[in-house]
Amino acid sequence: DMHYTVVIVGGGSGGISVASRLVRAAKSLRDHVVVIDPSDKHYYQPLWTLVGGGAAQKQATERDEASVIPDGVKWMQDAVTEFTPDANYLTTKSGTKVHYDYLVVAPGIQIDWDKIKGLKEAIGKDGVCSNYSYDYVDSTWESIRNFKGGRAIFSYPNTAIKCGGAPQKIMYLAEEHFAKAGVRDATEVVFASAGGSIFSVKKYADALDKVIERKGIKTAYKRNLVEIRADKKEAVFENMDTKQQEVMKYDMIHVVPPMSSPDFIKKSPLADANGWVDVDKFTLQHKKYPNVFGLGDASNLPTSKTGAAIRKQAPTVEKNLLSLMHDQALLKKYNGYTSCPLVTGYGSLILAEFDYDLNPMETFPFDQGVERFSMYLLKKELLPVVYWDGMLKGLL
Ligand code: FAD
Repeated sequence: DMHYTVVIVGGGSGGISVASRLVRAAKSLRDHVVVIDPSDKHYYQPLWTLVGGGAAQKQATERDEASVIPDGVKWMQDAVTEFTPDANYLTTKSGTKVHYDYLVVAPGIQIDWDKIKGLKEAIGKDGVCSNYSYDYVDSTWESIRNFKGGRAIFSYPNTAIKCGGAPQKIMYLAEEHFAKAGVRDATEVVFASAGGSIFSVKKYADALDKVIERKGIKTAYKRNLVEIRADKKEAVFENMDTKQQEVMKYDMIHVVPPMSSPDFIKKSPLADANGWVDVDKFTLQHKKYPNVFGLGDASNLPTSKTGAAIRKQAPTVEKNLLSLMHDQALLKKYNGYTSCPLVTGYGSLILAEFDYDLNPMETFPFDQGVERFSMYLLKKELLPVVYWDGMLKGLL
């Protein structure tokens, strides 16, 4: 058995941000915080949109996990399998029991590739691609680059996903590339989404509807992808209203797979009825176990799951956890802030930023509902630096 003052599950965006902030804020915590994560790599996933669009290299998004573990924090390379919060310990795959005084849960979201029939066999080749994995993101650019016309479909599933804007961002890049490559006139671009509109916040939805119209993209809402028949190049969608199945031929299809809370969270006492880590939406403290906090994609915070949201959640967890350690009230409140840099082409971007109530919460002194080159540069050049050198270091 082992014991740490603070145990952090997951060394992704959320886990590393909180680890850095804790040892920075409280020197006495040095060497008493452990991050448990089985992966020897850490990924900056937001850049995968540009990798899929051929505008960035995927190697730039991957670093060794060891290199992002802060000084004064231990890394245990193992997977958590079970939580026993009534006795303040968890169990790992290797059978180790890790006891804690405080627990932070941030294992991200699980991608359920097998929930779409035929997808696991089809993904990564013959025009079936996805930006939602380091392994397949190159297949997106392959598919776009080799596209000779026909129908290009971009799907959006009927589950919560990380980065709600990513399914359409890659479509705008693809459409622009098709035009440059001279195949746009021979191409039908289709956004086939289980949702009912282009975006949840009206201000940005209005702007995006204009982008869709300008680019001549077809929308098929309330369509949930349920099967890929790779041999016939057919995608099968279920109409969310009528439950009828519809077959659409494709020449390329960018698939956003269904996602859910990681299985080991779903079956744990930490989960809510839908499987997510059950935390207070303002303090990020667990609703049943006061010495447990949750953040990031695995939490049930009712906001869009993004790294940008985590940038605001991490200080909330840090401050409230330290307050709890000192028997003080949890005063730091998260307001649901999240952001989605909506790439609308190679060199244009709408920077959506909003809170729990879907009210825009914009950073810059101009209208962010307008497509801008400056905001594209922000995403491509500045935000990766902000992530690696600011957020993960606990500075921003
Ligand atoms: P992650 O960063 O995914 O980390 C989870 C960690 O938990 C991983 O290291 C994993 O190995 C570990 N883990 C898993 N299981 C276990 C286990 N059993 N035990 C221990 N550890 C475990 N966000 C933005 O802000 N802007 C964007 O433009 C944007 N675009 C995106 C585009 C794409 C294509 C994708 C895929 C994501 C995008 N995101 C974007 C979302 C962003 O990457 C995530 O919201 C963010 O990384 C979530 O952080 P997290 O810490 O919750 O999970």
